[in-house]
Amino acid sequence: LMQIAIPLNFIGFIYREIRQGLADIESMFSLLDVPAEVQDASDAQDLKAVEGTIRFDDVKFHYDVARPILKGISFEVPAGKTVAIVGPSGAGKSTISRLLFRFYDVTGGAVSIDGQDVRSVTQESVRGAIGMVPQDTVLFNDTIAYNIRYGRPEASEAEVKDAARMAQIHDFIERLPEGYSAEVGERGLKLSGGEKQRVAIARTILKAPPILILDEATSALDTHTEREIQTALDQVSRNRTTLVIAHRLSTVVNADQIIVLQAGEIAERGTHTELLAKKGLYASMWDRQREADEAEERLRAAKESD
Ligand code: ATP
Repeated sequence: LMQIAIPLNFIGFIYREIRQGLADIESMFSLLDVPAEVQDASDAQDLKAVEGTIRFDDVKFHYDVARPILKGISFEVPAGKTVAIVGPSGAGKSTISRLLFRFYDVTGGAVSIDGQDVRSVTQESVRGAIGMVPQDTVLFNDTIAYNIRYGRPEASEAEVKDAARMAQIHDFIERLPEGYSAEVGERGLKLSGGEKQRVAIARTILKAPPILILDEATSALDTHTEREIQTALDQVSRNRTTLVIAHRLSTVVNADQIIVLQAGEIAERGTHTELLAKKGLYASMWDRQREADEAEERLRAAKESD
């Protein structure tokens, strides 16, 4: 996601300066990386996202023709279910979310939502149907209430607070001297990565899209924050089609299906329990992550007892 993060900072900068005309946070993403060839078909209709079933059919993709990234990927996320994509760094996980969002067009096969090829419908309607909780959330230099309400500008104060409660950030906000009127962003209160992510989750809860993409943070959060975020994510993904791009494995345990991607191909798929029993790639990634987490906990405990 670094490819997005750098231009994101840049767009964040521009946005702060002009701050107008952008209908949605996702429009910011769409400005970043969209090659000119991703355009609406002349007869493009709006997507009818009723249930939100996602399908990838033999999807092939490359950024550069000399280097295929996805080599024929097929999977379905049934409406209301959660599918997690895991795999080594560089395997193509985030690329899958970019194709669903149609930052890029596939070079083979098709991506569809409720049976409609995303290339045949308007980009605006695709992005309107998808809520994205990114790794790094850009906050506007405005109040925390504004930042949450951005998900649905007409939302009432009570709705904003309900969303914040579900996102596990309400109590934190209430403890701020200025509460929901506290200014955040570059020139205001600096929030931690986990707090920003919970603001993004609250925003997405307000937007209530049928489809959700969660791009899990790469960096390790402390156990308490991670648990709070997990509770918030469980809230937002309940009964909603959810694609989790998991750079760590901690949040995938309860997914309906886990897809293990390796070098652009699906190496394994199944539930957490099924994949552990297979003793393959997933099982070895899981063991390694657990060892790393335990080492980190030991280090933290040692520091605390000093
Ligand atoms: P990580 O877990 O490290 O974030 P990932 O599995 O999400 O990795 P992707 O971001 O999908 O990986 O990238 C897959 C490959 O495509 C990487 O080798 C990356 O360098 C390459 N890549 C990603 N974006 C671009 C781009 N805009 N142009 C060219 N190559 C790209």
